[in-house]
Amino acid sequence: MNLSKNFTLEELTRTNLTLPNIPSESEKAKLAELVNGLLQPLRDKWGKPINVTSGFRSSAVNKEQGGSIKPLSQHCKGEAADLETDDNAHLFHLICEHFDFDQLIWESGNDLQPDWVHVSYKTKGNRKQVLRMTVVKGKKRYTVIS
Ligand SMILES: [Zn+2]
Repeated sequence: MNLSKNFTLEELTRTNLTLPNIPSESEKAKLAELVNGLLQPLRDKWGKPINVTSGFRSSAVNKEQGGSIKPLSQHCKGEAADLETDDNAHLFHLICEHFDFDQLIWESGNDLQPDWVHVSYKTKGNRKQVLRMTVVKGKKRYTVIS
């Protein structure tokens, strides 16, 4: 099912785990808002494919992947996506400078490139919070950049 020109519900709900990962109608509606409010306009500006490595996660999938439980990961609400391209740093800066978002996270990697980019989007009340995640002694640590 197409959510927009370049994004399908299938790629936003894909998981390599053998656990159920089916969004409810309201979670599907949030995924559609994420795609049409942010991912598709971003894809249009980027001009090249953007790989969604993780979008919606059921609570079972989120738990298995070590996602945050308190507060509940925005992936579980259908508000977040993890993105990978051939230049994650460039994508990160493009989102930061040109788009409305709730949280933008430089995920792991180093000072030059994150391993992936996490972004979340809400129709109302976007915080425009920019963070960096580093793994310290096996634990995720988030630092606010702006
Ligand atoms: Zn994420």
